[in-house]
Amino acid sequence: MVEDIYTIEVPFRGTYRLQRLRFGRGSPRLVVVGGLHGNELNSVYALNLLASALRAQAPSGTVDLIPMANAFGIEEGRKLGPFDDQDLNHTFPGDPDGTAMQRVAHALFQASCGDVCVDLHSGSILVDEMPQVRLSAKGDELDLARAMGLPLVWRRQPRTGETAQLVDCWRAAGCQAFRVTGGRGATLDKAVGATIALGLRRLMGSMGMTRPPAPCPVLAEVTDEQVVVLRCGTGGFFVPEVSVGDHVTSGHLLGRVVAPVGGATLEEVRAPSTGIVVTSRLYPMVHAQELLLRLVVL
Ligand SMILES: [Zn+2]
Repeated sequence: MVEDIYTIEVPFRGTYRLQRLRFGRGSPRLVVVGGLHGNELNSVYALNLLASALRAQAPSGTVDLIPMANAFGIEEGRKLGPFDDQDLNHTFPGDPDGTAMQRVAHALFQASCGDVCVDLHSGSILVDEMPQVRLSAKGDELDLARAMGLPLVWRRQPRTGETAQLVDCWRAAGCQAFRVTGGRGATLDKAVGATIALGLRRLMGSMGMTRPPAPCPVLAEVTDEQVVVLRCGTGGFFVPEVSVGDHVTSGHLLGRVVAPVGGATLEEVRAPSTGIVVTSRLYPMVHAQELLLRLVVL
């Protein structure tokens, strides 16, 4: 059932609707939010696949799906909220008397504190990301994250400025919560969406809510110390020689930064150690110190 959990009248544009799909009743309660960032579309597709599975098999407990949190941003292909250019994910726990995005954030947060909460994202519009769970290095959610069977589980130390994000607010409220990301922004990657939807079905299975699909082992489970970030030393045109998921050995040529005009090689990027490519730059124009690749070292 689709229900409006919050609305705002927008001059000359109609009504912003924060919509929720609810399946089942009672506990446990799983809440999955997508589309906080309006140019990250894989979450919308993944939640539509999941809704289809839930129509075929009702859960034991409640599953709430909120696929289009930043609906107007999705409509415009913009990461930020079009009301006031605020990042909805940096607006939690929100304010019922605040700006438009603070009001949306408040309504979303109030409606989404379940036993287990998942926030879905894509990579930025510049990079492709391996489907993965990112969770706090200190959380108790590790078994839930593993149960999704996504290729990568990354236990991250909190970064400066992340304290107001939805996952942090969920956890502060006592929910078990983590973020899932995969693919690239501004595009629909059907395989990534299907992988994330399947992971969510495994998560429901591990919570005893549905009959689970076949389990899938995690390819890599890492902490920050095992993630090698490779940035370009100089600006140019990046030509990758590897893709997300590739296994590489130390010294492997990962890509070249070349002159945009003429193609002369400015920099070769080589693997500093044996590992797996989990992030790859897809938008080729780069400036000094921008992200090119991430490797996880096992
Ligand atoms: Zn995002």
